[in-house]
Amino acid sequence: MMKKVNLYENSEFIVTKTAYMPKVAELYDAVMAFSLRTGGCSSAPYESLNFSSMNGDTETNVSKNFQILSDYLGIESSRIITCDQEHGDNVVILDHPPETSLKADAIIATNSGLYPAIKTADCLPILIIDPTVKIAAAVHAGWRGAVLRILRKVILILSEDYQCEKDNLIVALGPAIGSCCYEVDQIVLEPLFSAIPWAMKFTKPPDTAFKHSSGKRHLDLVAINHHELVRLGIPSRNIHSAQICTSCSKDMHYSFRRDGKSSGRGLAITGFKPN
Ligand SMILES: [Zn+2]
Repeated sequence: MMKKVNLYENSEFIVTKTAYMPKVAELYDAVMAFSLRTGGCSSAPYESLNFSSMNGDTETNVSKNFQILSDYLGIESSRIITCDQEHGDNVVILDHPPETSLKADAIIATNSGLYPAIKTADCLPILIIDPTVKIAAAVHAGWRGAVLRILRKVILILSEDYQCEKDNLIVALGPAIGSCCYEVDQIVLEPLFSAIPWAMKFTKPPDTAFKHSSGKRHLDLVAINHHELVRLGIPSRNIHSAQICTSCSKDMHYSFRRDGKSSGRGLAITGFKPN
């Protein structure tokens, strides 16, 4: 199960007021960042660095927050590519900014100067780069994404269609709801176990006296996706996991399960700066 750590003690990441980044990204001059909820301009209940207006926050605040993060990362906000996420497995591949809105749950950018981004509040954001091919991807992986094996789909596109070597892929697993707070029932478990037979070992019964009658289990989304990567041949040393539970870290992260429909959204963003 996911071993929770204090993010500030996770030596693989640099933590600032606005975002945190796997240190490895600096080696390759790549952007790989997960936003924190601090340092933005939205007020409660979205305070403060919120990236979605679907929950009631204003477009103005959200666009200011995009600007704040872009300035911090040293990129142009107009080059950030987001999509209408649908908990599906549609993957879009881009070499220039799209002209219309995208419906997808994974974005692959094949050019530098484009920054795929995913919005989350509990679902797992996954960032992938290949510093040799200069390709970058952002993946939205909640339980439905796990059932649809969206991460596997993206890795196979990168390795088969773009000749990315598995040894060269660097992956960052961002903040997500931890198994501590993620109790799910058969509506989730039945399709999950049917799609991924080995997923059972990444669930455990709840710590209650009635655990055998409820049929509920705690699900570890991060561990499932980590295992998927290792099964696909990505070396463990290339996988950097934030290991932070969004629901447990109210001062740092939004959580849909904790805060409901008015929860803000964090942003996970990646890409290569143009030379
Ligand atoms: Zn938790």
